[in-house]
Amino acid sequence: MTQTVQPPLTHVRRGNGAPLVSATDLPPRGHFIANEFTADAGGELLDIVNPADESVITQVLVGTADDVDRAVEAAIAAKSGWAQLVPKERAAILHQIADRVDEHAELLARLEAANTGKPLTVARDDIAQTIDTFRFMAGAARSITSQAAGDYAEGHLSVIVREPLGAIGVVTPWNYPLLMAAWKIAPILAAGNVLVLKPSEQTPLTTLKFAELVADLLPAGVFNVVTGFGPVVGNRLSAHPQLDMIALTGSVNSGKAVARNASETLKRVHLELGGKAPVIVFDDADLAAAASALRTAGYWNSGQECGAGCRVLVHESVAAEFTEHLVAEVGSLIVGEPGAGDDVEIGPLTSKAHFDRVCGFLDRARAEGVRAVLGGSAVAGPGYFVAPTVLTDVPVGAECAREEIFGPVVTIETFTEETEAIERANSVPYGLAASVWTENARRGHDVPARLDFGTVWVNAHLVLASEVPWGGFKGSGYGRDLSIYALDDYSRTKHVMHNHTR
Ligand code: NAD
Repeated sequence: MTQTVQPPLTHVRRGNGAPLVSATDLPPRGHFIANEFTADAGGELLDIVNPADESVITQVLVGTADDVDRAVEAAIAAKSGWAQLVPKERAAILHQIADRVDEHAELLARLEAANTGKPLTVARDDIAQTIDTFRFMAGAARSITSQAAGDYAEGHLSVIVREPLGAIGVVTPWNYPLLMAAWKIAPILAAGNVLVLKPSEQTPLTTLKFAELVADLLPAGVFNVVTGFGPVVGNRLSAHPQLDMIALTGSVNSGKAVARNASETLKRVHLELGGKAPVIVFDDADLAAAASALRTAGYWNSGQECGAGCRVLVHESVAAEFTEHLVAEVGSLIVGEPGAGDDVEIGPLTSKAHFDRVCGFLDRARAEGVRAVLGGSAVAGPGYFVAPTVLTDVPVGAECAREEIFGPVVTIETFTEETEAIERANSVPYGLAASVWTENARRGHDVPARLDFGTVWVNAHLVLASEVPWGGFKGSGYGRDLSIYALDDYSRTKHVMHNHTR
């Protein structure tokens, strides 16, 4: 493939220096236990950094195992009261939470943008999806379906009861801090459970703000937050003998650590892990539509998206044309600070450590002979900006096409045969999401059936809805977010059998 290499992006759009949030917008910086924030005096503190300009926004407490134990104690005390509410009562509270988030949507969006670096449009979408998650789960809680009661053994009436699991530990990532928290909190509460949540140590602010905003809506102890690091707070949550499940959204390594740790108590494990979504573009595809969709699906949230369409496998006969389309689309993305205008589409990466990681992938790809036809490097600071990147001449098995880069980087590989495309798509250890681009209806049914991914889009990518499940296979974990399947995951079935023979 020979494409023109675009000139490098040399600067990003800067804001006018006005901060996105003021001191009064910030949440208290203690843990949120039994509806109160703990005092932060004397505890170890952690800097929370704005990745657009590297300034310190505030600090939060570094939690300990004792803090987790106190939060679990509060949760256990609240467990039976919350479980005993009928679905209608829990649903009413979830709607009130959605209303409260809605009332403070702009504040939450600014706080999320300041802490993660994501553009305000992305942050606003996160908050809108957060509200919808609570509204969906409020409705779904009232319409649980189950096997009909009946005589399945002669003279014995079987009744299937769906019960909450009890108390659940939750660990969330930094890419969609509030939204990923909502994907757990809403179904966990809807199903009648209580929880203790640890947000990412890098991005705890919207979760703490959410706690502050809903404190008067929930009974004390139903929802608790402990901030701090994974190996301490997350570790205690996954090991805690009184928790009935640990649910984590994060990297594969954290998922493995949690599953290992949970095995001692045999608590249930719910894992939403990484992804490396292939985008298979056949020779009969609408190439312009595929490129236009990837402009969003590959680069939304600066590519820090587990379902991002980041690995194109395109038929060799249309590879050059598709690449021209994609480079034109991606080259028009507006890169800037979140406060630099509502039209900014790509912000900085969320942390220095992650920025270094993404730059390392780009350096090693170059060394492997991969070519950046667009971007390919960091943009001069301050801030952790990486230019939107399209990589071509990607050899089979190259690191950049195998590993989750989690930045604004899409690789393009070519294939000749359909079976080869499917095999190579399935060859990564991840199994979260994939897409297939073809105008052939038979192929559009058949190829998804042969792909090992929890979501497969046909002629689309990264379109989600609260009604449909989200979750992976293989190294992307197990357990489902969103939809009634999440409610299933956060509840247990009990069979009660009545002998009525007379
Ligand atoms: P991460 O695994 O580094 O951190 C996630 C959370 O796990 C953090 O709160 C962290 O403190 C905690 N953690 C780390 N080590 C732990 C341990 N030993 N025990 C318990 N908790 C621990 O992930 P990240 O970098 O914050 O997030 C990015 C990752 O999340 C990517 O791999 C991405 O694909 C994945 N992700 C998946 C989904 C999905 O729905 N499948 C959604 C968003 C993000």
